[in-house]
Amino acid sequence: MRRVRPKAANRANSLGTPALKHPLQQAEFALSIANDAQLPPPGPPEIAFAGRSNAGKSTAINVLANRTRLAFASKTPGRTQQINFFRLRSGALLADLPGYGYAAVPLALKRHWQGFLGRYVATRQSLVGLVLIVDARHGLADLDVELLSSFLGSGRPVLLLATKMDKLTTSKQREAEQDIVRALVTTFPAQSAQVAVVPFSATRRMGVEAAEAVLREWLGEGDGNAVLEESPATSSKEKAPRTRGVPRGPKRPSRG
Ligand code: GDP
Repeated sequence: MRRVRPKAANRANSLGTPALKHPLQQAEFALSIANDAQLPPPGPPEIAFAGRSNAGKSTAINVLANRTRLAFASKTPGRTQQINFFRLRSGALLADLPGYGYAAVPLALKRHWQGFLGRYVATRQSLVGLVLIVDARHGLADLDVELLSSFLGSGRPVLLLATKMDKLTTSKQREAEQDIVRALVTTFPAQSAQVAVVPFSATRRMGVEAAEAVLREWLGEGDGNAVLEESPATSSKEKAPRTRGVPRGPKRPSRG
């Protein structure tokens, strides 16, 4: 396993344009879609945010975008059954996928959306990375594993935000993170290196800088701002923000 150490950001990238320190800031709502046919044609790089209902996805997006209500954080999970697209300052798209796993959603609708999400992450050409939001207290759920199985075959990277860390003591935080890393290595022995695990808390703004460093790399704005380091998966000495896993550069999809 390796980890990412974010360095001072905002340097010019190799194209001579300024790197975006906060890649999600100034995101604007673009469109909502409810089925495959409504997906916009693949074009600019796209980053998808996924997670179980109530895991903290909307809150994470809002914190990274530095907005209070860009993504609608709701106390009624499972309500939104659409993909909301936001346009980033760079022109890239953020796709906010519907939360899954909410018990009260009718089974047929659940199946419909699981199928749609699986197809979307497996086949969307412009997708450069998947941000998976996992409640650190609960760890990886079956539906998270299902979505990862659909996506990892593409060879593209995953940023797993293990969120709500503020609800755990420091030692439980470390345990929760290690449990997730272990589950990834066990479930995806050949692909776990595609996943970077970042301990995260929206309320404490923990892991924000590390997450942004990974997103910048995916968007081609990194210019070495996220530094890969060798690190034993169970090292207990370093301080947050840090990531586990290897967020390799995205396998850029061919356009067309
Ligand atoms: P979503 O369904 O995945 O979009 O989840 P939300 O973003 O709506 O969050 C679900 C609940 O968890 C809300 O009550 C949030 O305030 C809360 N929440 C989200 N992130 C955090 C966090 O990092 N720390 C704490 N303590 N609560 C959080």
